[in-house]
Amino acid sequence: MLHTSFIELNPEALQNNIRYMRDHMAKGARYSMVIKGNAYGHGIENIIPMAEACDVDHFSVFSVSEAIRARKTASAETEIMIMGWIDREEIEWAIQNDVSFYVFTFDRLTAACNTAKRLKKSASIHLELETGMHRTGFNGKELDKVLHYLARNRKHLYVEGICTHYAGAESINNYSRIREQIDTFNSLVNKSINEGVVPKYRHTACSAAVLRYPETIMDLVRVGIANYGFWPSEELRMNHFIDSEKKGVPPTDPLDRVLAWKSTVMSVNVVPAGEYISYGKSYLTNRDTTIATVPVGYGYGYARTLSNMGHVLLHGKRVKVIGSVNMNMMVIDVTDVKKPKIGDEVVLIGKQGDLNISVSSFGDMTNSLNYELLTRLPGHIPRHISE
Ligand SMILES: *Cc1c(COP(=O)(O)O)cnc(C)c1O
Repeated sequence: MLHTSFIELNPEALQNNIRYMRDHMAKGARYSMVIKGNAYGHGIENIIPMAEACDVDHFSVFSVSEAIRARKTASAETEIMIMGWIDREEIEWAIQNDVSFYVFTFDRLTAACNTAKRLKKSASIHLELETGMHRTGFNGKELDKVLHYLARNRKHLYVEGICTHYAGAESINNYSRIREQIDTFNSLVNKSINEGVVPKYRHTACSAAVLRYPETIMDLVRVGIANYGFWPSEELRMNHFIDSEKKGVPPTDPLDRVLAWKSTVMSVNVVPAGEYISYGKSYLTNRDTTIATVPVGYGYGYARTLSNMGHVLLHGKRVKVIGSVNMNMMVIDVTDVKKPKIGDEVVLIGKQGDLNISVSSFGDMTNSLNYELLTRLPGHIPRHISE
């Protein structure tokens, strides 16, 4: 194999997760799949066709560069929405290619209007409202001015959406903050409607909000992490199990991981007891040890903090990463594996035999979230669909 590792994507898992999330929504709400962060590390170009096969026809990205990739990959009828970065110069591209985008500053509002005027084609915009997260969005005061501007420029600006984002719907710590955001959003949307700005979609819900605050589902949802088989937080996973218990149904996890990350044994050596492994002195063999090297290191997204901490699967057994994770390699202790040899499959994330290495078990060790670990998987690792 040309590359040192590869990522395998499971289409059935994706289908299962989308179905699970859709089951929470009344018919009629539009399903937008969030594919920012290179589709949470899964690969934009790989995920879009898989999702389209599950009847997903709306994708949300962060930046215009992701939108360009999505537009190239998606079928012509599929809709794409930019939730974050688009520079003035790229607004023309977005309008010409029927890509909608968030507007949360006057600068962008006027740029959209002027570009639309020049192109003689209206811009599809989503007004983002500041409801309490304090990141981006128009607050109540600014909204008056925006509505006034829109009233004068109806021909050039099509308000496809009015939206907001919650400041942590995945944690009960934020309960009252989210409740206030919902109220603020609803009152600002009513104000807009009263002034004649009626959006096609009111949208606010991420994965956690769909699961815990059903009233936030409205006309469109922006579901990210759950599509890929991850709970937005451990708390939501636990909530699911508690709900199952109350209903008297067996507590199984309804979400399936879409991604597996695999590599291969590059070399096998025997090291006597009392020797240090790899750089430095962080690992001393306490017995005659058979070691194998795997051609994946921090340069490939395998965190250095997993030195002497990580585990991988070989021959269906969980084995330890020993010594420091290097840029391109790690060393694993394969003493207890029968006849390890060059070319054997090594699973860094995913299943092998009866065992599973989950991304969240990495997270526990390195203190980072699923979101962060997934998006750190380098774009250059090849992705393909599993058989
Ligand atoms: C990332 C993001 C989402 C999706 O969040 P998940 O927790 O992954 O479902 C939705 N809306 C916005 C604005 C986002 O940035």
